[in-house]
Amino acid sequence: MPVRFTPLMKPRLTRRAREMIERSLPHFPELQGKTITVGYTRKHLGSATVIYRRGSISALVIRLKVRKLNYQTIGHELIHLVQGLAHGDRSKSRIIDRQSIPSGEKQCDVWTLARDPLFCDDPPTYLRMPRILRERWSDYAESVRELCIAAIAQRGTQRRYIQWLEAKIKGLPVNKPVEKQEPRQLLLPLE
Ligand SMILES: [Zn+2]
Repeated sequence: MPVRFTPLMKPRLTRRAREMIERSLPHFPELQGKTITVGYTRKHLGSATVIYRRGSISALVIRLKVRKLNYQTIGHELIHLVQGLAHGDRSKSRIIDRQSIPSGEKQCDVWTLARDPLFCDDPPTYLRMPRILRERWSDYAESVRELCIAAIAQRGTQRRYIQWLEAKIKGLPVNKPVEKQEPRQLLLPLE
């Protein structure tokens, strides 16, 4: 899908960041055929905006910080665009269809991690989890991702699926001797 970089982003964009964005986009078939505008922000977190003009989409914008950019952030902002598309589509009935991604920051985290292991390179921002999981994220990323997938599957029948998920994450065993383990393989591109 076409990507446009804003004048503010162009001089700051690194090859690494460009490649990360290009590698992320194919995981978002919902955005296929739409132009994604990528801007720059200095803020710690990125941002995402779906701009509507007279009821139809005029632009899909994400803003990213280039320094220490991770796939988790890129995925999170792209999921926000998907959330925004579903939310703003007035042609559809307001009855929530089970396939669409609900709005909300925690929801955004859940769907980002579930989407692909690529987006599990850094812990999510809004999902509540014990500090040890954030500190040793690479040891827990896979388990947390599996729980996110399970939570999404429950959503149809379980209204409190986010609470269920956070309880399950909190319940993950934490006292395994991680130092002795082989590093678990994550899809971390070597730079
Ligand atoms: Zn967000």
